[in-house]
Amino acid sequence: MDSADQFRFTHIPHPAPVSVAQRTELLANPGFGRVFTDHMAVVRYKEGQGWHNPTIEARAPIALDPAAAVLHYAQEIFEGMKAYRAADGGVVMFRPDANARRFRQSAERMAMADVPEALFLEAVRELVKVDRDWIPSGESASLYLRPFMIANEAFLGVKPSSEYLFIVIASPVGAYFSGGAVSVWVSEDYTRAAPGGTGAAKCGGNYAASLQAQREAKDKKCDQVLFLDAAEHRWIEEMGGMNIFFVMDDGTLATPPLGGTILPGITRDALLTLARDKGLTVREERYSIDQCYEDAASGRLKEAFACGTAAVVTSIGRFRGHRGEIVIGAGNGADPVTEGLRDALIGIQRGQRPDPYGWVQRVD
Ligand SMILES: *Cc1c(COP(=O)(O)O)cnc(C)c1O
Repeated sequence: MDSADQFRFTHIPHPAPVSVAQRTELLANPGFGRVFTDHMAVVRYKEGQGWHNPTIEARAPIALDPAAAVLHYAQEIFEGMKAYRAADGGVVMFRPDANARRFRQSAERMAMADVPEALFLEAVRELVKVDRDWIPSGESASLYLRPFMIANEAFLGVKPSSEYLFIVIASPVGAYFSGGAVSVWVSEDYTRAAPGGTGAAKCGGNYAASLQAQREAKDKKCDQVLFLDAAEHRWIEEMGGMNIFFVMDDGTLATPPLGGTILPGITRDALLTLARDKGLTVREERYSIDQCYEDAASGRLKEAFACGTAAVVTSIGRFRGHRGEIVIGAGNGADPVTEGLRDALIGIQRGQRPDPYGWVQRVD
């Protein structure tokens, strides 16, 4: 049942795709998340009928009833993944099966329809194939894919929706940060996720809840916000959309443990594996913000970095918060362990290094 054959996408080509000249110009400097490809994948769900009408069609605004459940009760989840142009001109993706699995877990937490992994993967693959000319080929460029699902039953009663739209859009992107190290604001007044809440689900609501803290970070001249645990406001959890790692002076790599309030990043998971195989001591353990400040002052904390699909691996140069500012290492992104892990990961993702884990999958 759960096979790609079951989901045969109907292709309705864009009647007026972007010209080659204009696309070339857009791909030269795409930025992040502002340029989009010609097409999108759309699949509909209705209780009793299941998933139906999978299509690849022209990217266009979607019509929603003003009573659609997503507009009122925020039943929405998404994924973020990338397609790369390999050295031989082919197209590859990094662990798409892990995104498909996480999407199902997010859907379950938000009481949404289950999207079979085969359907998720087929939608992504078909879209990448159709819009493959939109994959930029620069060093830190890729085609960012955004699968998402929204509840679209027109009903104001509070209950899980009986209808859903599963859509994939694609956006050619360059680097997420402009380079060097980022500065991080430690949020003491707002939390992102609480035990029993939706912190481990990739849902838009988590982001909505993080934006005021992110705005506060910007006001404090910081690039990103770091959230602490909701119960004690003491334990470091993660950033608004990235996981966090620390490198200690004995070479140990540490990251907060998952446990319901932290998004289980696929980049996080890959880095843990790569670090272990490089012979680093790896610890998933709680780390308090007080200890972090103390270790930065004593020199025990050597490096810190954020990681995720969009930003890959980004050095953290300083933390700023109610207890003042601390600089990590040189503060400028010249961090040898971070760089080694970043190079190892990017090398595998782009097919420049051997992939003993079977993480890289050919799309086309
Ligand atoms: C997506 C996301 C991450 C990173 O996950 P990756 O799979 O590595 O891209 C981290 N934190 C949050 C809150 C996220 O939404």
